[in-house]
Amino acid sequence: MSVDREQVMAALRNVVDPAKGADIVSAGMVQGLAVTGSAVGFSIEVDPARGAALEPLRKAAEAAARGVPGVESATVVLTAHSATPGSAPKAAPAGPPPDLGVSPRAKAGDKPLAPVAPPPNDGRIEGVKHIIAVASGKGGVGKSTVSCNLALSLAAEGARVGLLDADVYGPSQPRMLGVTGRPSTPDGKTILPLRNYGVTVMSMGFMVGEEESVVWRGPMLMSALTQMLHQVAWGTLDYLIVDLPPGTGDVQLTLSQKVNVTGAIVVSTPQDIALLDAKKALDMFRKMNTPVIGMIENMSTFICPNCSHETQIFGHGGARREAERLGLPFLGEIPLDIAIRELSDSGAPIVASRPDSPQARRFRDIAKLVMASPEVGRAVAGRA
Ligand code: ADP
Repeated sequence: MSVDREQVMAALRNVVDPAKGADIVSAGMVQGLAVTGSAVGFSIEVDPARGAALEPLRKAAEAAARGVPGVESATVVLTAHSATPGSAPKAAPAGPPPDLGVSPRAKAGDKPLAPVAPPPNDGRIEGVKHIIAVASGKGGVGKSTVSCNLALSLAAEGARVGLLDADVYGPSQPRMLGVTGRPSTPDGKTILPLRNYGVTVMSMGFMVGEEESVVWRGPMLMSALTQMLHQVAWGTLDYLIVDLPPGTGDVQLTLSQKVNVTGAIVVSTPQDIALLDAKKALDMFRKMNTPVIGMIENMSTFICPNCSHETQIFGHGGARREAERLGLPFLGEIPLDIAIRELSDSGAPIVASRPDSPQARRFRDIAKLVMASPEVGRAVAGRA
């Protein structure tokens, strides 16, 4: 059953902001209504000064949206992009990270995060040496699996590593890293990330339950990413791996606008269709002046665990050939392997649980190439 936007707006006209004596639609507070299948998402723009006091209003709006026929999930956040509710947000906010009203896995009664001082505008995250973005043209090619095992491999080399799961459409790092619970915000400003297998992790998945569909428009994604970059207590890190959403969009753009990315890694499967999308991702990084560290071919070949017969299910070697054609480093191939899937999906990634297996060694070799890459070398030299 498809959801009718007008019905959602009509339902929201019943939600009254007592301070204004008007419903939230007439008061121009409802912004960015997006309907995707049975999921509805929008923001309520509020005066930052009213912040926490408006949680009941947010909940009432969420309940009203959920009451519309066909709506199965509703994601509603309070935003304070502009001092005057109703005026359309413009480009990425230049000041402090706006109060999204979303604390990690916001629960009833939680106070929204308070804005903190603007980050130093030199593209750095305090204490973080290298920011490495892991991207893919399309979803399902194993970008998150690679990000997670790469982070663990770097940690196994003795590096201090953080993993920022910015894949808002399918945040999977908490599950892959076997992290449960939610990060705390003791002072309402700083988010204390979680940690497992020696890797510090923060995820969009902590901010919205794993099951919840996230239908966020650009400015809301920008705010959430900015908070995750600058309000998380990352500590001292050699590498912050950023697991990007698939494709080319607002999160990628915001990341390159907000911080100096040391380099990007593009993950692809070998077949043509995935490679076509990977080329778009590479093109995006070129346009954003983000250096590319190299390409990885995932699900490269399948070796039968019973008879050791090798089958090239998705073809083989496409990413290597493409990297060569583009003059980019090829960082390695990861086989299509049942243990990689089972262990990742059960919260014990192969590099952590079977570090000496041939599959884990593939990831560890890639990590060594990343550490030795000119992009990482240049960034270190640039900071000396
Ligand atoms: P993406 O981040 O690109 O959407 P994921 O990393 O979530 O992709 O992987 C999608 C699915 O494929 C997951 O179930 C994961 O365990 C599995 N997977 C990823 N890489 C491999 C691999 N090399 N061998 C077997 N399964 C894999």
